[in-house]
Amino acid sequence: MGQTKEPSFRQSVDLMFNRAVALMDLPPGLEEKIKVCNATYTVRFGVRLRGQIQTFTGYRSVHSEHMEPVKGGIRYSMGVNQDEVEALSALMTYKCALVEAPFGGAKGGLCIDPRQYDEHELEQITRRFAYELAKRDLIHPSQNVPAPDMGTGEREMAWIADQYARMNTTDINARACVTGKPLHGGGIAGRVEATGRGVQYALHEFFRHPEDIAQAGLQGTLDGKRVVVQGLGNVGYHAASFLAAEDGAKVIGIIERDGALVDEGGLDVEAVHNWISSHGGVTGYADATYVEDGAQVLEIDCDILIPAALEGVINLTNAANISANLIIEAANGPVTAGADEILRDKGVVIIPDLFANGGGVTVSYFEWVKNLSHIRFGRMQRRQEEARHQLVFDELDRLSSQTESDWRLSPDFKQNYLRGADELELVRSGLDDTMRAAYQSMREVWHGREDVGDLRVAAYLVAIGRVADSYRAKGL
Ligand code: NAD
Repeated sequence: MGQTKEPSFRQSVDLMFNRAVALMDLPPGLEEKIKVCNATYTVRFGVRLRGQIQTFTGYRSVHSEHMEPVKGGIRYSMGVNQDEVEALSALMTYKCALVEAPFGGAKGGLCIDPRQYDEHELEQITRRFAYELAKRDLIHPSQNVPAPDMGTGEREMAWIADQYARMNTTDINARACVTGKPLHGGGIAGRVEATGRGVQYALHEFFRHPEDIAQAGLQGTLDGKRVVVQGLGNVGYHAASFLAAEDGAKVIGIIERDGALVDEGGLDVEAVHNWISSHGGVTGYADATYVEDGAQVLEIDCDILIPAALEGVINLTNAANISANLIIEAANGPVTAGADEILRDKGVVIIPDLFANGGGVTVSYFEWVKNLSHIRFGRMQRRQEEARHQLVFDELDRLSSQTESDWRLSPDFKQNYLRGADELELVRSGLDDTMRAAYQSMREVWHGREDVGDLRVAAYLVAIGRVADSYRAKGL
C-alpha cells in the first residue's frame, strides 16, 4: 500500500507503532492507551531583551508515565511545535523500553533560533523556561528529567539544574532534575559523546552478525566502509569521528545546513568540525568538493548513511533515490513512514532511531543514578581492584622468574592489567552492554518471526511488549 501524502511526524511514529501492534495480541484498549500522548503543556513567557519584552513559546510533552520519572531532551529550534514534541516524546517511551532505561517518555522544546542570541540572553531565556516548567513539576528529579537535544547542550543543562536548585533549596537530589550537565556541575564522564558513541557501538554489534551484514548487501567489517553523515553536531560529529578514527571507516560526505562536503578519499572529520565551529558552516572549506544543495548528498552511493540532524529528511521525494545499503538513524525520525516502506522494498537495512540513538538516554540514566547516589562511579572499587590485580601480577611475575623457559609477560601487560576502571571506562562499558543487549533483543524478533521483516518493526515489538508488561503489572 503506497502512500502519496506525507503524514506529520507524530502520525509517522503512530503508523510505525500501528505496524507493530498489528502483529501483537494486546488486550482491548491497551493499544490506544500506550499510543496516546498523556499530556502536552504549552508555556508562553516573556523575557526583557534588548529593551523590549520578547515572548517565547515552549512545550513539555509527557507521552507515557508507566515508569517515572519521564525522560526526554529539550530542543531549541524554530521548527519546534506541538506535533514534533509529541512525536519525540512517543519515541522516548519506546526507546527507554528498548534500552531498558527505567523511564517513561517525554520531550520538550522551545521555539527559538539560539544563534540569534548571545550567551547572557540565552541564559535568561533558559532560566525563565526552566522556571515555568519546574513550578509545574515538569522538571523534577522524581517526575520529569530533561536532557540535551538539538540546539542545547551542557551549558543549558547547567542553567536548568541551577534554576531548579534555586527554587528547591532543600532538595538534596536537586542535581538529578536534569541530565547532560557538565562534569563539574553534577554531570558524568562520557555523556557528551554518549549518543555518537552509542551509534558506533550499535554498528559494532551489527557487524558482529554475518547474516545481518549480508542482508544489507555488505561484507567484512567497518574498516573501509564509505560513510555519509548529515549534521555534524553533537551526535553526528562524535559518531563520524569515532567511526573514522577508531574503526577505519571513510567519511566521504558531510551534509550541513549550508551545503555538503564530499571527498571520495575520505574527509578529515576533525578539520571539518573545527571549520564549522569557527565559520558557522561548511561553506569555504577548501579540502573537499562543496555541494550547495546538501540534501542531494543523501543520495550519493555509500555503504552507510547516518542522518544525524533532524526528522523527515528521507521522505517520499527522495527515498527511491537513496543508494546507501545501510541507514543508521542517529537522529530521531529522519525517515518518514512512507519512505520507510519504499526503502524496505528496495532492500535497504535501517537500524531504527529508537535503538540507534538510545546511547544518550542510557548514559543520562547513569548520570541520574550517580546524582541520586551522590558518588562518582568507580570511587569505592578502583584501588581495591588495582590491589587485587597487583596480587595476580606479582604471582605471575614470581612464577615467570622461576621457570627455565623464556616465558615472560609482555611489556605493557602490567600497566594495562593493573589499572582499575575509572568512571569513563565504566560508562562506556555500561553503554556497550546496553547497545549489545538491545540489538540482540531486536534481532531475535527480526530473525525469529516469519511475520517480521525489518529491524524497526522488531524494535517496536520489543518496546511495546515491555511497556504493555509494565501496565499489566500495575493491573491496568
Ligand atoms: P545538534 O544541535 O548538536 O546538531 C545538529 C546538527 O545538524 C547541527 O550541526 C546543525 O547545523 C545540523 N543541521 C540542522 N539542520 C540541518 C539540515 N537541514 N541539514 C543538515 N544539517 C542540519 O543536535 P544533536 O544533539 O546532535 O541532535 C541531532 C539529532 O539527534 C536530533 O534528531 C536529536 O533529537 C537526536 N538525538 C540527540 C541526542 C543527544 O544526546 N544530543 C540523543 C538522542 C537523539
